[in-house]
Amino acid sequence: MEKKRYERPTLRKMNTGLMNKFGTKTENEPLTHIESVAVKGLLKEYGSPLFVLSERQIRRNIRNASRIFNTRYPKVQFAWSYKTNYMDAVCRTFHQEGSWAEVVSGFEYDKALNNGVPGHQIIFNGPDKTDEQLVLAARNNSLIHIDHYDELYSLIRLSNEHKLNPKVAIRVNMDTGIYPKWDRFGFNFENGQAWNALTRIVSSERLELVGLHCHIGTFMLSPNAYATAARNLCELAWSVKERYGKMVHYLDLGGGFPSTNTLKGAYLPGTDTVPSLDQFADAITDVILGYGFRPEELPLLILETGRALIDDAGYLLGTVLATKRLSDGRRATILDFGINSLFTSFWYEHKVSPAQPLGQQTEETVLYGPLCMNIDVVRESIVMPLLEKGNQVVVHQVGAYNMTQWMQFITLRPAIVLIDEENKTHLIRKAETTEYINSQELLPTHLN
Ligand SMILES: *Cc1c(COP(=O)(O)O)cnc(C)c1O
Repeated sequence: MEKKRYERPTLRKMNTGLMNKFGTKTENEPLTHIESVAVKGLLKEYGSPLFVLSERQIRRNIRNASRIFNTRYPKVQFAWSYKTNYMDAVCRTFHQEGSWAEVVSGFEYDKALNNGVPGHQIIFNGPDKTDEQLVLAARNNSLIHIDHYDELYSLIRLSNEHKLNPKVAIRVNMDTGIYPKWDRFGFNFENGQAWNALTRIVSSERLELVGLHCHIGTFMLSPNAYATAARNLCELAWSVKERYGKMVHYLDLGGGFPSTNTLKGAYLPGTDTVPSLDQFADAITDVILGYGFRPEELPLLILETGRALIDDAGYLLGTVLATKRLSDGRRATILDFGINSLFTSFWYEHKVSPAQPLGQQTEETVLYGPLCMNIDVVRESIVMPLLEKGNQVVVHQVGAYNMTQWMQFITLRPAIVLIDEENKTHLIRKAETTEYINSQELLPTHLN
């Protein structure tokens, strides 16, 4: 039998407010393997810290979401939200599963083309599209979602100049009962702006109105908000049909479904409180099916789900650099990754597991990153076994918005590995090197 490790006893100060009626949650179950690949081996081979993605989980998520919507509605199309995670290996997995691409910049648009997505399966969203990008998107028959009047007028001018007939939709913002409202994007529903924009599109000779779009927020916890959004889009579609005699091809309800991460300050873990995808699907499809369209004119339902399809497929692996006592007696653990890699630690209480079995004893600790900055906190308070220098940890549910919002601040960004369906590992993004960062810099001759 292995010799038990000695753990010195500690006196534990009880902070008022820390306990609630559910008691403190202890996260001491070790996670030694991801998809049966040893965490220890991954860190040894690819270095620490390290992002790991499970291809199996990504495919499971998109198949599950497709099933949920397709069993409720006859015509459904998912479009992968590039900004959520635009690693090519991730995007191509979604495209293999039948997803179109949803992009919000020229950079992302080019990425989608490079990933082999046909132009007509790229949805071009966002307030920032240059004239060149608009012309390219129009020539490729991409779906251009107009965000503001300046873009609408530019597109009309460019279409006349270049004799183009772009396929367009407008992004609609509205009051769905969720505040703050995201009314900085698109045309407002309640004040008539959206209808005004639609009228201009239909009466322009060249633009072809093909759809209506909204994206009401992110990490939305209210299925009812989607029912309101769907109803408003149906109302606009119905008005277009009545007034102009044509039915739009699609309604795009955007993204925004939550993952099961726990928001900061939440009383209960996300796994217990977040509505299921079925509830969102019921809310949306009940409204569209019940609105009164004839079966043959039912619009295609497009979903731009990001976060909910990738968060639980991603892990961040790392190593304990040091432990210390803060002046108030609290335990502190310093990890080799911080907010530079884990941007979402600003709003999530990420679940963190030790990557090896440790003792039974636990203590509340602060998890800090390695940056020389006071804001670099991974978890303000977590009850964990007594981690020591060299121990390894795994952060759960980090697949969304970390591998795109991470920042090269103070240190270099880590590598990303994909575990495929046969549990083989593939490096899909190399760790950054000093050389790579320096390659973008130039020195004026007088400083050389
Ligand atoms: C970010 C974004 C999405 C994806 O949102 P999630 O909350 O990750 O599902 C979809 N559509 C648009 C327009 C977006 O900006």
